[in-house]
Amino acid sequence: MSQNPLQPFFRQPKIYITLPSKGVFNSPESLSGTFENMPVYGMTGMDEIILKTPDALMSGESTVKLIQSCCPSIKDAWSLTTLDTNLVYAAIRIATYGNELSVTQTCPECETENDFDIDLNHVIEHYSNCQYNHKLTLDGLIVKTRPLTFKESNDFSLENYGLQQKLNQTEQVEDVNEKQRLFKELFEELSVTQQKIFSKSVEAVEVGDQVVTDPTYIEEWLKNCDKSVFEKLKNHVDANRTAWNMPTWPAKCAKCEAESKIYVELDNSSFFGNA
Ligand SMILES: [Zn+2]
Repeated sequence: MSQNPLQPFFRQPKIYITLPSKGVFNSPESLSGTFENMPVYGMTGMDEIILKTPDALMSGESTVKLIQSCCPSIKDAWSLTTLDTNLVYAAIRIATYGNELSVTQTCPECETENDFDIDLNHVIEHYSNCQYNHKLTLDGLIVKTRPLTFKESNDFSLENYGLQQKLNQTEQVEDVNEKQRLFKELFEELSVTQQKIFSKSVEAVEVGDQVVTDPTYIEEWLKNCDKSVFEKLKNHVDANRTAWNMPTWPAKCAKCEAESKIYVELDNSSFFGNA
């Protein structure tokens, strides 16, 4: 087949990124090439249209398509870990609109609305220095943990969203006994979801020279272990999550000079809109 003469006019990579997870949790077929120096392209018009489709948004489908379109080295964005997603979102935004993002923040002291231009390169720098702690010694066991994939994290968000909706509906129930019964049911569902997050975070448990990787065994162990063991695991998972939170930017109110921090959420369509 002859080459399209328009090819030199196709979009070009704008920046190159290195996955903070180093791809260690990815299957070889989910990435092409190495985790280093992955080219990132700006969004196409089609990417933008997909992002504006509300149904696609809720299912995470549009985010996956966006990542695979702008970072073609990522073949399966569902299996990307949550360690990498924020950096990838920031890189796509930089490749499309440049590194500056305008944000408006209300001063916590005097409620003045201040405008700031923040530099998204801060996100790239921040994640290149983050470390994931994947090992925990518990009760004579060596527990290997792993970050959730985008698919798992998205499924949990949807579940949580569903539970939140049910909770809101339950608030409206007038019969007190019925209301209590429904609340009890919901809290049980919520704790099952949370339990699932922890068992998904455990990749393997080493006991002596045996390595347990069967998720059914791991789940059963977590249901039956001492509360203190479960809490240590929870703290470990939470500490990793905190260490991998989005970085913040310092802010100073133009009116009262109070200092605060700017938090930016990247996983929503407004972040990818033109600012
Ligand atoms: Zn102020």
